[in-house]
Amino acid sequence: MDVPYDKGLSRRNLLKLAGIAGVAVQAGALVVAGKQEGKSSESYTGWESFHPGTQFFDRKPFEFEGPSHAPVGEVRRPSHHTDYVFQRVGSFEQAYRKHPGWTLEDPIENLELIPELEAFYKEFPERLEWDFKTFSETIPNNREDSAKYNNYYLLAEAYEAGFSAHSRFLRGPTDPPEKSDFPGRDMMGRPPRNPVPFRTPDLASEFVKEIAHRYGATLAGITKTNPNWLYSEGWRGCPQDYDFSVMPAHWENAIVIGVPMEWDVVLSNPQFGTSNDAYDRVTTAALRLEGMIKFLGYPVRSHTPLTDYDLLVPPHAVEAGLGEIGRTGFCITPEAGGNCRMAVITTNLPMTMDKPIDYGVARFCNKCKLCAESCPSGAISMADSPDGLVIRGYEHWYINNGACYNYWRETMGPMGCRLCVATCPYSRKDNWLHDLARKIDPRDPTGAVSSGLLQIQKRLFPYPAASEYHRPPQGRFASFRPEPPYLEVDKYLDIAVTKPGK
Ligand code: SF4
Ligand code: SF4
Repeated sequence: MDVPYDKGLSRRNLLKLAGIAGVAVQAGALVVAGKQEGKSSESYTGWESFHPGTQFFDRKPFEFEGPSHAPVGEVRRPSHHTDYVFQRVGSFEQAYRKHPGWTLEDPIENLELIPELEAFYKEFPERLEWDFKTFSETIPNNREDSAKYNNYYLLAEAYEAGFSAHSRFLRGPTDPPEKSDFPGRDMMGRPPRNPVPFRTPDLASEFVKEIAHRYGATLAGITKTNPNWLYSEGWRGCPQDYDFSVMPAHWENAIVIGVPMEWDVVLSNPQFGTSNDAYDRVTTAALRLEGMIKFLGYPVRSHTPLTDYDLLVPPHAVEAGLGEIGRTGFCITPEAGGNCRMAVITTNLPMTMDKPIDYGVARFCNKCKLCAESCPSGAISMADSPDGLVIRGYEHWYINNGACYNYWRETMGPMGCRLCVATCPYSRKDNWLHDLARKIDPRDPTGAVSSGLLQIQKRLFPYPAASEYHRPPQGRFASFRPEPPYLEVDKYLDIAVTKPGK
């Protein structure tokens, strides 16, 4: 029997009404959710924002009072002539071209090198051997190999050429810091403004990092510039008689930014990889930051892979809390491992400094050695720890950049190697497994987690032996992983291809 309801509403009608009300509530909820969604900037089309979410690792628990690097001996500032590999091999090449019959048996004086370089080679004769080998043997061999195999790497080279073409538009300073770093008239012809004060250094730091991310930097940190890590000569735009002994006062603060290389091509190193994607992006982000800070009235100079550096980047990156120095000499970051190309922006804009972090890289590197075992040139130290390895007054891993450069000139495809980036367990994408490892390993005082992870890496993921990366017949121009599908020459190009192989 139907139960009578107040106001003459039958049960059936009540249910109908409830159904209608339910639909109305759902529709209302949809409208509210739609409105919320519509208000979100994420719902609009446009260039995807880079935002601080890219720097997702919580550094706070691992911070310590710096500095991370303290001298253990007499400090010698780095030299463009000897320590900066491109300039050193360039100087050697010029001398060797003038004296093409020179061999290692001949007196070094016959090469007529600049005095700094001659003294360096006398102190480190193995560097002279490697640089000599590069130009007397490796480059001639590479020409032969390229004639045979180059077509196989044509798309990788074409891909890289796009980044290189853009990089030619990115320019560094052409005047000394006292002139080039200071703001001039802006695009509208307005005179430079006096430095605009921020409310607090904390807010200045927050703002600079936010904008750095928006300009394309994946990582950003801030530290004091260390005069010990400035090149001892050859700052851009400076005459030879410039006083390089004193750091310009307005370089006091260093903003360090980083951008990873594209993962697909990192994995296909050495033969199909390039650094120029990240070089281009990090340089672009640095130049944008430079422009923004100048606009606010502060002097600023950026030091980037494509406009050159007046200072060393990795130790500044470490002091700025971006990561730790690994066996490879890179700053290994929690988010991207060693897969991170970096730039520094020096300025006197007052900002709050970041602190260095200890999240276990140094301990892990002592037992890992994956990069050193894979390195085709043997450039990376196999020592059990960096203890006692003192370079220019600081204790850290030894990298033979002459041996490394020699192998760069042996590879196919775009020049370079970067295999040590591809092999490093820290250079792994952010998925749940790696994220878990990032969280647990640094908190494990026993080292058991890192040992387990290392065994997983070594046993479950086979990779070529170091010799396989070399030219035939010793090797087969191996890559860490095959090229990504979009660089497969067979698939896209109607040309004959000879693949190196055993
Ligand atoms: S880039 Fe290649 S050759 Fe150079 S250190 Fe790394 S793995 Fe070795
Ligand atoms: S591969 Fe291993 S030893 Fe080399 S930098 Fe990475 S963690 Fe350190």
